[in-house]
Amino acid sequence: MAGRQPPVGVFALQGDVREHLAVLTSLGADARPVRRPEELDEVAGIVIPGGESSVMDKLSRLFGLREPLRQRIAAGMPVYGTCAGLIMLAESVRDGIAGQHTLGGLDIVARRNAFGTQSDSFETELSIPELGEPPVHAVFIRAPVVEEVGSDVTVLARLPGGDIVAVEQGALLATAFHPEIAHEDRFHRRFLAHVAALA
Ligand code: GLN
Repeated sequence: MAGRQPPVGVFALQGDVREHLAVLTSLGADARPVRRPEELDEVAGIVIPGGESSVMDKLSRLFGLREPLRQRIAAGMPVYGTCAGLIMLAESVRDGIAGQHTLGGLDIVARRNAFGTQSDSFETELSIPELGEPPVHAVFIRAPVVEEVGSDVTVLARLPGGDIVAVEQGALLATAFHPEIAHEDRFHRRFLAHVAALA
């Protein structure tokens, strides 16, 4: 796939940007950090990393990225959000800080920090039929869960208790966990396939 594909970005105002750039680059993508609206103009898709969604929200407004991002998402740009990135893509968030906004686009309601302090980090294996074998080794760090999904949303993965932790709606993909730190590249491949389909 490599060079013939358009560049893709990683939202780089906050979060584990470097890890996502590394996975995308290892897959042959031309992957760049995006901090300014002009940088967003140059990419055909974007990954929103894990980090802290309330900070991402504030910085995206401060750097003038929020509105251009919302417009690109509305226009169909492929996006992959992990953890805080899933929250950013959610139409609405529960347990956000006062005044916290999301970008929206993905017809879900996410609950921030859904696992509380007792089990705020854990790892598990998730079987995800759309990705085939082997199961996904999923690392959860102060993770959200998806509490409601609209009718256009496909649920890709649930925890054994039923909590929804991976979803897809058109070219928008989101996971509550962190493949980028677990040697798992199938979600990034899926994101790049969404980008390639539109190129
Ligand atoms: N708890 C963070 C938030 O609210 C997400 C944590 C993560 O991205 N690992 O944005």
